[in-house]
Amino acid sequence: MDKMNLAYCNECEDLVEFTEQEEIVEEYYRGELVRFRFKVGRCKECGHEVATDIDYNTRRSEEKIEAYKRLKGIILQDDIVEILEKYDVGKEALADIAGFGKATIKRYFEGYIPTKKYSDILSKFLNDERFFYSKVEENRHKLKDSAYKRLIARYSKLKDISESKIEQVANYIITNLGEVTPLALEKLLAFSNGVNYALNGKRLLLEECQAWQHGYVYPEIYNKYKKYKFNPIDNGINSTHGCMLSKLTADEIKAIDLVIKTFGVYSPKTLELISHSQAPWIEKRIAYKDDEPGNEVIDETSLKKYFVDKQLNTEEKIVSYIMATLKI
Ligand SMILES: [Zn+2]
Repeated sequence: MDKMNLAYCNECEDLVEFTEQEEIVEEYYRGELVRFRFKVGRCKECGHEVATDIDYNTRRSEEKIEAYKRLKGIILQDDIVEILEKYDVGKEALADIAGFGKATIKRYFEGYIPTKKYSDILSKFLNDERFFYSKVEENRHKLKDSAYKRLIARYSKLKDISESKIEQVANYIITNLGEVTPLALEKLLAFSNGVNYALNGKRLLLEECQAWQHGYVYPEIYNKYKKYKFNPIDNGINSTHGCMLSKLTADEIKAIDLVIKTFGVYSPKTLELISHSQAPWIEKRIAYKDDEPGNEVIDETSLKKYFVDKQLNTEEKIVSYIMATLKI
């Protein structure tokens, strides 16, 4: 028997074998009945709950506190993490901006529960970028110059994303795919536009797409990210709150998710190869030699027809399309 798979049972007063299963736990906390999902360990002998590892009780108590917060409409820890990442700000600076005591945010990570009033301010930070930056200005005197400058730089990036749909699509792909080079991003944008035709019958990107030597290119996005050359773009802002996805519908996100899951796993060069097999690109390159630069505008009708005719609107169909194209 493996020693690792034993736990101490208080009922049996012995080391016992145990099972682990997700359960809905119900418990009172601060006078409220809270309910949460938890992978509970149970003694195989008597069924009593056992701690399956050294972090078991901490994990369980954290889940309980998060469930309590959810019940009370208090901001969750994950959401505070998202605020820190979204604005690229530290815990102390965030407390200063919010007008809290310096150590307040740090304490929330040690198990303290925000009051409703403080929680509401943080929730508004998550969802309302303008409100956040109005508080930055208000509390500027508390911030270090370098921190203030970084926040302002972040704001200009956030504004960029909030104002343009193609930026939101690009940012969504960059943050959800992890490693995206400029070359891959251009193809994935065009494929997203195509798959959205096949899935939702509508145009996703209103910007002009061009047939360049290396496949589809949206010049505006190309110019923005070309400094990364053949390296992954690392400046996405991963947040599902506020302006980050405000210009995209749930159906459009479904189309982009399909592209990320299917085309997204291939290398930039493979994506280029796929784009070179597609009629909307080929028909704009007929007059050009292979290595000759060009920037003819892709015909949207042709792109739509291509993706709709091939029914590229499910994961299964797209995967088999890719395999057929690459002759795998
Ligand atoms: Zn037992």
